[in-house]
This record gives sequence, structure tokens and C-alpha cells, in this order.
Amino acid sequence: MNKRSLKTKDFDYVWHPFTQMGLYSKSEPIIIEKGKGSYLYDINGKRYLDGYASLWVNVHGHNNKKLNKAIKKQLEKISHSTLLGSSNIPSIELAEKLVNITPNKLNKVFYSDTGSASVEIAIKMAYQYWKNIDKEKYKNKNKFITLENGYHGDTIGAVSVGGIESFHKIFKDLIFENIQVQTPSLYKSSYKNEDEMVYAILNDIERILIEKNAEIAGFILEPLIQGATGLYVHPRGFLKSVEQLCRKYNVLLICDEVAVGFGRTGELFACNHENVEPDIMCLGKAITGGYLPLAATLTTQKIYNAFLSDDHGKNTFFHGHTYTGNQIVCSVALENIRLFEKNKLLSHIKRTSKTLEKQLNGLKYHKNVGDVRGRGLMFGVELVEDKETKQPLDIKIVEKMIDNCKENGLMIRNLENVITFVPVLSMSNNEIKKMVNIFRKVLIDTLEGVR
Ligand SMILES: *Cc1c(COP(=O)(O)O)cnc(C)c1O
Repeated sequence: MNKRSLKTKDFDYVWHPFTQMGLYSKSEPIIIEKGKGSYLYDINGKRYLDGYASLWVNVHGHNNKKLNKAIKKQLEKISHSTLLGSSNIPSIELAEKLVNITPNKLNKVFYSDTGSASVEIAIKMAYQYWKNIDKEKYKNKNKFITLENGYHGDTIGAVSVGGIESFHKIFKDLIFENIQVQTPSLYKSSYKNEDEMVYAILNDIERILIEKNAEIAGFILEPLIQGATGLYVHPRGFLKSVEQLCRKYNVLLICDEVAVGFGRTGELFACNHENVEPDIMCLGKAITGGYLPLAATLTTQKIYNAFLSDDHGKNTFFHGHTYTGNQIVCSVALENIRLFEKNKLLSHIKRTSKTLEKQLNGLKYHKNVGDVRGRGLMFGVELVEDKETKQPLDIKIVEKMIDNCKENGLMIRNLENVITFVPVLSMSNNEIKKMVNIFRKVLIDTLEGVR
């Protein structure tokens, strides 16, 4: 296919997600043709280091022989049959595996195909759980505690429990009401120190729970790092305290590990950092190694039991997507986890994480670098006009930097004025250094060009 016509047809036919198409149609889009390891290649043969893991999903690198083989092997048997009322081999084996590797209490797997869907399922499951166990007593348990700047996906339920003001404004008539508490992240807060901030926010949460626990079905949060709204890193111990408060006031704890699950923060799951046992856990993104869409909502025996009865219409969980538990998707997810263990990827991440942190901390001297924060292989560099006022760097300059990174062979994304470093999880130490070196050069050159 002719390159020129590909570009024209892209503008003519494709509506890109989260993209202002008015601007996109005037841009020079990068059209990816293939991938290998930590690199992406466009139709002109130019290669880019994948510094955003193709939107936080890629684990073992692109075009991985073992993952490819797992798909081909399953393809020779069958691609899809339904999980509604029948079952299949890969979905059973994957469920067992997920139950074994996630926190102890989680032992049932409900499949879906996007992170957003896994959150919708979590919300409906939590809501119905209370109704199933005592419709009268828990009739008002209909709301969720959520975090400011939370992100749980783009479907209506997921937006409702999210904390992005602009989304809430646009869809205000469609979304349901929740109770939002502050983001426990020091840099953007008005608190003087972390202890004071954590104390105040936990106090606020407890006050809400005391007053309103009869109205609250669950507390949903992204454990440890709130990703998509700007990489807000929670202080150590915050998650554990939230867990304890949920237990004390009879509210379900829902951990959305769609972004942070599968090694991203340096432990297999973010909950593992603090031995937290959620009642419901959402998984997505990296679950298939970045190959195919799959998500899962895991829950406990106790919650599962509340949905059991001898009558089809009673207590049943009426939810399911057409491709739930698809064989090919589950096969590649199984191989992803097998490779994760075989390659000791967690130890690798712990090593490369130190490199990434050290390299990024080396940028702190720069007058436009306000903050460097993150865990594992999930870091953000917040760019500011002025370190004192923390006023965000002009978004036009930030976007220019992103373009310059691409020109220099690095694919990376910004969340407003925060540049995010979320590389392929198997990226080598040298590639990590190269990634930061490209960014360092672009940071200095772009800002020099502006002044
Ligand atoms: C990406 C993300 C989602 C939504 O996942 P999709 O597959 O894009 O629907 C939900 N929660 C978190 C924390 C995410 O990062």
C-alpha cells in the first residue's frame, strides 16, 4: 500500500480516540508497521523506542516469539466459543493461574475485554452483593467513595467513579453521584508534609464512613499510583489504612489494578506492596503482555457466594460480554504470565527501576523540572514554568517536546504538563538509559529554542 494514500485514508476514515481530529488532520501522523522488542517501526522504516509500552500494556517486547507461538497454537484448535453456559480450556487454566498469583482472598475470575468493562463489573458486583445479602438492610448502599483525579475508564459507570472534572462536566446528566475524597499526593496539594496530608485525608475518609457507611457500597481506587491523570504517587501506608477503614465500616474495597498490575510498580500487583487484600480487583492492560484486549474482575468466595441460588432469576449476576473468555486472548495471557515467571521479570524490573529513577532524578537540577515521581517502571516528570509557583509549563512547549522526542526516536506521552515514562517492562538497562538521554537532550534543546 502506498504511504501517501495510507495517510489520506487515515484522515478520511479513522476517528482516533482521545484525539482532537481537527488538529490531528493537520499533523504528520506516525503510522506503525511493525515492532521488535522495545522498538516500534513506522512505514518509513524509522524506529522508535517504546517509552509508553504502547499505552502501558507491553510486557515482553513486541513480536515476541513465544507469545506469537501461543496464539498460533490456539488458532489451530479454535478461535472462539462462548462462555455463556459452556466453557473452554484456556479460560479455565488462566482463571486458576490468576487466582494463584493474586492476593489470597481473591478466588473467582469474571472475564471481560477492556479495563473499563472490568470496572463496570466491579461496580455492579459490589452494588448487587449488598442487595443479595439483605435487600432491606442494605437498600441504601448505592454509592462509592472515589478519589479526586481517579481514572477508571471511559464508559459511563467508570467515568462516574472517576475524578476527572472535565469529563464530569460534559457528561453530568448521565453519570451517577459518588463521594469524592482528596488525592493523597503531596506535590500538588496544599499540605506542608506527607504526614499531615495523610492524617487529614484519612480523617476525612473516616468521618465520611462514620456518617454515611449505610449509603456506601464500596471504596474504589487505583492502588499506589493514580496513573492516567498525571501519575500521583500515594505515600506508603495509605492503601493499608484505607483497607482497614473499609473493614471497620463494612464497605467493600475495590482495587483497580488495570494500570499498575503485572509488575508495573515493582511488585506483581500494587496491593502486594502493603499486603492488602481487596474484595474486588480489576485487571487489564498488561494482562496479555500487550497483545490482545482482555480484562478480568476478581473477587472473593464470600462475595461470589452471595450470588448463588437454585433459581435462575434470583441473585444471578446479569452481566456478560460476547467475547468473554475468548480462547486466543486467554492463551496469550497464560503465556504472558508463564514468561513473566520464567524470565524472572520482576527482578529485572526492580533493577531497571533503579536506573530509571536515578536517571530521571538527574534531571531535577533543571529549572523547568518541578517534580520527579513514580515507582517501578512508572514515572512522571512534571514540567513547570517556575519551581516555586509550580505553574505548569505552557502545554504548547510540552507538546513540542513530545514531537521532538518522536523525531529523535522515542515514543512517549504527556499527561498535561507531566511527561510519563512507562516503558516496555522487559526494556533493558541500556535502553532505559537511552530513553532518558533522548528526553534530556530534547528537554534542554526545546527550552533553549523557546527562550
Ligand atoms: C486504562 C485504565 C482503565 C481503562 O481501561 P480500558 O482498557 O482503556 O478500558 C481503567 N482503569 C485504569 C486504572 C486504567 O489505567
